[in-house]
Amino acid sequence: MIQIQNVSKWYGSFQVLTDCTTSIQKGEVVVVCGPSGSGKSTLIKTVNALEPFQKGDIVVDGISLSDPKTNLPKLRARVGMVFQHFELFPHLSVTENLTLAQIKVLGRSVDEAKTRGLKMLERVGLMVHKDKYPGQLSGGQQQRVAIARALSMDPIVMLFDEPTSALDPEMVGEVLDVMVQLANEGMTMMCVTHEMGFAKKVSHRVIFMDHGKIVEDCTKDEFFGNPDARSVRAKDFLSKIL
Ligand code: ADP
Ligand code: MG
Repeated sequence: MIQIQNVSKWYGSFQVLTDCTTSIQKGEVVVVCGPSGSGKSTLIKTVNALEPFQKGDIVVDGISLSDPKTNLPKLRARVGMVFQHFELFPHLSVTENLTLAQIKVLGRSVDEAKTRGLKMLERVGLMVHKDKYPGQLSGGQQQRVAIARALSMDPIVMLFDEPTSALDPEMVGEVLDVMVQLANEGMTMMCVTHEMGFAKKVSHRVIFMDHGKIVEDCTKDEFFGNPDARSVRAKDFLSKIL
């Protein structure tokens, strides 16, 4: 579903990604972890073409991001992205948040968009809040709306960038529950997260980044079950986080 091939990226003279290569199969759940500043957000944003890269290529569902003929907005519409900060439109109701992009980007009718959006809202357990504004919801609820909004677009893959790290601890679980459910339903997912419980429970693979490089790319069992075989940096990271 996603092939990241020797991707390098610079911000000016600062190299933020160095020769990153990995791939994600359909239905696979891959957790990306690593120290702050290691390039996790940058890598995930390149997959959604929110950040350009200077070397290598990324192919999403057979479509090359570096091909000048690729319609990036069209591709982006099919890749769901959930950020740390919920980024709902504060002046729009939950239902309007769910339908806007479906109508503007996918060209769905208002009715069609509403049906799909509310179905996804039901899925994240927030139907009763459909007419509220984001400011009237808790952080955990807003993040679940953000997930429902991404799902309303019928994404072929879902990208998450630390979706729970801005939440109060008591709200982390409700967002992780939705992500676990998605993973169990076979959604292809790339998740930057430090929630190692989530990684252990549902991920298939773990990628560990350090200084812009993919240092580890192995199965969950290899990552958690055989720490002695891991790099010094990954071992150090695991010892702090577990
Ligand atoms: P992570 O998500 O792993 O914490 P990021 O991908 O956000 O890491 O950032 C990786 C590195 O790139 C950091 O050193 C950060 O300061 C730098 N960086 C991120 N965004 C920019 C930017 N827009 N311009 C310059 N440097 C950036
Ligand atoms: Mg980040």
